[in-house]
Amino acid sequence: MASNFQVIVVGLGIAGAVSAILLERAGIDYVVLERAPQLRRNGTAISLNAQTLRLFEQLGLLDQLLAKAMPLRQIVFFRQKKMTSKNKKSNNNNNNNSNNNNNNLQRLTAIPLDQLEHRHGYPSILLSHADLMETLLAAIPPDRIHWNKRVLDVTEYRACVAVKTQDSTIYDGQIVLGADGAYSAVRHHMFRHLKKRGRFVPDSDFEGRRVRLEMSVAAGTAEHLDRWMYKSLRESTVDMMAIVGDDGPHMAWLLPLKGERICWLVGTKQREIQKARNDHAFRLSEWELRADRSMYDQARDLKLPIAGTLGDLIDRSNSQDIVQVMVDEKCFKTWFSDRMVLIGDGATQAILDAVCLVNLLHQMPKTTNREIHRIFSTYYDQRYPVVQSALQSSNMIAGLAAKTGKVANMARKIASTLIPQAAMTYALDRLMVHRPIASFLPPPPARGKVLPRTQTSMV
Ligand SMILES: Cc1cc2nc3c(=O)[nH]c(=O)nc-3n(C[C@H](O)[C@H](O)[C@H](O)COP(=O)(O)OP(=O)(O)OC[C@H]3O[C@@H](n4cnc5c(N)ncnc54)[C@H](O)[C@@H]3O)c2cc1C
Repeated sequence: MASNFQVIVVGLGIAGAVSAILLERAGIDYVVLERAPQLRRNGTAISLNAQTLRLFEQLGLLDQLLAKAMPLRQIVFFRQKKMTSKNKKSNNNNNNNSNNNNNNLQRLTAIPLDQLEHRHGYPSILLSHADLMETLLAAIPPDRIHWNKRVLDVTEYRACVAVKTQDSTIYDGQIVLGADGAYSAVRHHMFRHLKKRGRFVPDSDFEGRRVRLEMSVAAGTAEHLDRWMYKSLRESTVDMMAIVGDDGPHMAWLLPLKGERICWLVGTKQREIQKARNDHAFRLSEWELRADRSMYDQARDLKLPIAGTLGDLIDRSNSQDIVQVMVDEKCFKTWFSDRMVLIGDGATQAILDAVCLVNLLHQMPKTTNREIHRIFSTYYDQRYPVVQSALQSSNMIAGLAAKTGKVANMARKIASTLIPQAAMTYALDRLMVHRPIASFLPPPPARGKVLPRTQTSMV
């Protein structure tokens, strides 16, 4: 490694893994500390598009990812209408004849994605979290990863930073990169240091006020499904589906994957989990923990637009891989201190954070506090507005799918009928024009009709 400084990466999720690959290719010395003893499987899925696939092509990983993924045709929204006695009876009759017929399911709207490859050079794809992580891990030299290293403490000194893990090992470096997820230990220590030095941290950033809980989500992947029962498993491109119910507190997402698999998500709205919110264990839970079965079992009878019920998919899922996450709409304002910096929150945004930060670190001439501050400030200025607007868009899409009631139905109707295709294309173009790559590697071939924006962290 050519660099005169070492980066300690805390956490080996998507954010930590992409950072490690980029640091490796940039010739910057680094080590990764991960609290788990090995890669843990979970039954979720990730959608990637041109924003990150251009970087993966540059890193030589695109073909491997495409081989494990399904191209997405569209996102389709369905409404599960309230059961009246009349359509209950009609549904029962239908169920006797066919597994597939559900009079109460109304198709609301669809966001087409199949034009993306032509416009931005890469398709939108769906792949399992496990397949993505396996591909990323294979690109990191194993001796750089230290498993079973839960970080307990981080201390900043004038010219270095020391990280202590649960087995009392101390790692010294010049920069700590916190990629340790939503309940980051690095963030906790960063706030402590900033406060100790009398620096300003907004009240809203403190843990106690962190979670504005919108929804709790359980997710798993049904495997070894019958291709003849589920038509989507026989197709070369797939639809991501969202089903929102008038009747209950639940909404569901379906994400068909390669290899006769379907990832499912069940969201349970806030009021239903108020009780659980006061439970300490629940509040601190992260998505790698096993999900509480009652949270998704309540939605078993939900009829699916593909075939059968959600219960059919739950029964085909490995219960060890079913995870639970809390979804909130928080965007922290504090991202760095003297020698600690945070990345992550959403797979795509985490990858974009990583490439921006490593591009800047690669150009860093020395590791004085002043120079590090300049690099971290530039990183923040470049990324914070993008992350904030991405959060707003994802909240809008999630809200479109999750909210119930007359106003929400009206909003969906407006989205489906009044927003012209041209406006949708314009919005996607604005998003996808931002597809950054590593400044220190040869660029991938130019692809797509809409050229990527020039990168500020490359100059
Ligand atoms: C069902 C589902 C679908 C999703 N789909 C998408 C999608 O399509 N697109 C998208 O952008 N995002 C999606 N997301 C969100 C995305 O998966 C996550 O935001 C992303 O995986 C977070 O990655 P991360 O690396 O930042 O954090 P994590 O995956 O949480 O990884 C953090 C790592 O840090 C480790 N760690 C934590 N604390 C410590 C410590 N003290 N010491 C050492 N190690 C520690 C953890 O063990 C873990 O390995 C989805 C999430 C779910 C649940």
